[in-house]
Amino acid sequence: MNVTIIGAGLGGLTLARVLHVHGIPATVYEAEPSPMARTQGGMLDIHDYNGQLAVEAAGLVAEFRELVLEGRQAMRILDRDGNLLYEKTDDGTGGRPEVQRGELRRMLLDALPEGTVRWGHKVEGVRTLGDGRHEVTFEDGTAVGTDLLVGADGAWSKVRSLLTDATPDYEGTAFVETYLFLADSRHPETAEAVGGGSMVAHGGSPDEGINAHRESGDTLHTYVALTRPLEWFAAIDFTDPAAAAARVAAEFEGWAPELTALITDGDTAPVLRPHYALPAGLRWDRVPGVTLVGDAAHLAAPNGEGVNLAMLDGAELGQALAAHPGDVEAAIAQYEEAMFVRAATPVDDAVLLESLFGDDVPESLLELVRGEQG
Ligand SMILES: Cc1cc2nc3c(=O)[nH]c(=O)nc-3n(C[C@H](O)[C@H](O)[C@H](O)COP(=O)(O)OP(=O)(O)OC[C@H]3O[C@@H](n4cnc5c(N)ncnc54)[C@H](O)[C@@H]3O)c2cc1C
Repeated sequence: MNVTIIGAGLGGLTLARVLHVHGIPATVYEAEPSPMARTQGGMLDIHDYNGQLAVEAAGLVAEFRELVLEGRQAMRILDRDGNLLYEKTDDGTGGRPEVQRGELRRMLLDALPEGTVRWGHKVEGVRTLGDGRHEVTFEDGTAVGTDLLVGADGAWSKVRSLLTDATPDYEGTAFVETYLFLADSRHPETAEAVGGGSMVAHGGSPDEGINAHRESGDTLHTYVALTRPLEWFAAIDFTDPAAAAARVAAEFEGWAPELTALITDGDTAPVLRPHYALPAGLRWDRVPGVTLVGDAAHLAAPNGEGVNLAMLDGAELGQALAAHPGDVEAAIAQYEEAMFVRAATPVDDAVLLESLFGDDVPESLLELVRGEQG
């Protein structure tokens, strides 16, 4: 058996690595022309209750520990005036260590046999050949047939159409992403407001917020969260970075200048990232020879779990295939049942709160956080 995986994101690569650990060959087809084709986005917290289990299954715990950015589990919550509502320091014992997404992907790529990933292979179409076999066609006109096809091709998966008609819908909120470089020297007040890890600034309404974190060095990476219709964002000209930043900042009028500087003083053009999601609780009937992992299966608005779930999906599918030699259908059925339940079940509040704050959090803050989640 050679498993055909579409997509070299963290879900697809974790699957390929776990299969490799168990001696099962896989080929990953990826649309991007090379591993360096695109910057891979910011920091990710990898949780002890899901993402880290995948790292263990991949046999890469030591390599992962090398990537962890010290101190980044610190957290500050501010109000719109910049007043500190809550602060947690990072003593190194937390269950959500932070790593750079690009480095995590590189770790997985380095742990695969040479040639596992075929770069520059954008899937254009997929079709059933019968008897559990499928054919995948690529943009360059080439095609491959496979006995086991796994769609790890993210939000706009091409493979998904073999299993369900469901497509993602806009969830009502978007992030506008900005970066400040050399913040300690160039923007000291803002750097101090963000602190050593992550910072969340609330203004009293769940429709606006500023979330920032300190990446490697003193780069500040910000997601400005705005709940607005897509048409509202469409009226902003994001090809004019200064005008777009000013328009977004206008929604935060009266907020502390060290907070709005995260929007107005960005060193990169602001990037709009609308949140899309598949229907909650999505399932499908078993179709022989094909399944999905990660966002392709259960895209949700960003909630800090997406990468963790994608990696755990990849790890569990790899382990299920290894545990059922010669019976791919039993392996996929076992994997899908657990994945459907996991994707439909939000992380337990108590687990999440303890993981975020430990056990010494003021009740007022717990109410705030519960309100935000609700
Ligand atoms: C703004 C934002 C912030 C986020 N922050 C976090 C966070 O802090 N923590 C967290 O856990 N999650 C976060 N997420 C969610 C997270 O990014 C996803 O859940 C996660 O990347 C899913 O992994 P995946 O491997 O399933 O898909 P992806 O990471 O999307 O990988 C899919 C891969 O498939 C490739 N591909 C796509 N189409 C094709 C095709 N037709 N042919 C071949 N290849 C194809 C893509 O190029 C890509 O490499 C965030 C999401 C967004 C939008």
